[in-house]
Amino acid sequence: MELAASRSAQLGTRFTDVVDADRLVRSDPNAFLFGVLFTQGIPAERAWAAPFGLRERLGHLEPSRLGREPEAVARAVAAPPALHRFKHTLAAWVSSAGSRIASSWEGDADRIWPDGASVSEVAGRLLEFDGIGRKKAAMTVEILRRHFGVRLTSAEEGTVAYDVHVRRVFLRSGLADVDDPDTIEAAARLAFPDAPGLLDLPAWLVGREHCRPSRPECDGCRLEAVCARRCWIEVEGVGVRS
Ligand code: SF4
Repeated sequence: MELAASRSAQLGTRFTDVVDADRLVRSDPNAFLFGVLFTQGIPAERAWAAPFGLRERLGHLEPSRLGREPEAVARAVAAPPALHRFKHTLAAWVSSAGSRIASSWEGDADRIWPDGASVSEVAGRLLEFDGIGRKKAAMTVEILRRHFGVRLTSAEEGTVAYDVHVRRVFLRSGLADVDDPDTIEAAARLAFPDAPGLLDLPAWLVGREHCRPSRPECDGCRLEAVCARRCWIEVEGVGVRS
């Protein structure tokens, strides 16, 4: 799996500013999948750096060992500075993912998303992992398609992640009127029926860079010309990529 586009999955240039960590996530599908697990409630850059930190602490990222040695994983995740604020949960997810990659995917997460698989097939496989729910699955599928060039079929099955930034942009812009996953996903399908998932990253970037919780910067926002500017709308929760 090679990075197919010059823009990174998250911020336009790279997953994380930690060069070695960025290289690992780009080049190792297992590390990428472990990074997905960490993308919850912490800054995206820190989440994507975690697989490298874990490998540094453990000396490996070998899936079957991660599954067989949950105590070692727990110690590695929790050692100060902890790799995630939900250190116990993340350690359990990583061990579980290691077991699943080893037992179901021959130790190689790249087998989860082969070229020619459909968007919904891959999302369904991702949803079998502890720690991957609907919004992380949607985000991951779009990163695979957009940034790693994985040729998944049935792009119309894709969707946006129900992420705090995405939700804020959809609601303030007028794309959606109700803040629930079904409504946000339906709005994405209506806006771009051929590939609704392609709206995920742009909406997340607008939400993070311009449409902030307080004092949104409408001047210069890419949606300025078409947005309903319902800036009074507030959205609670955390993002899959904060
Ligand atoms: S124009 Fe303003 S309200 Fe609309 S999405 Fe951009 S920052 Fe948010």
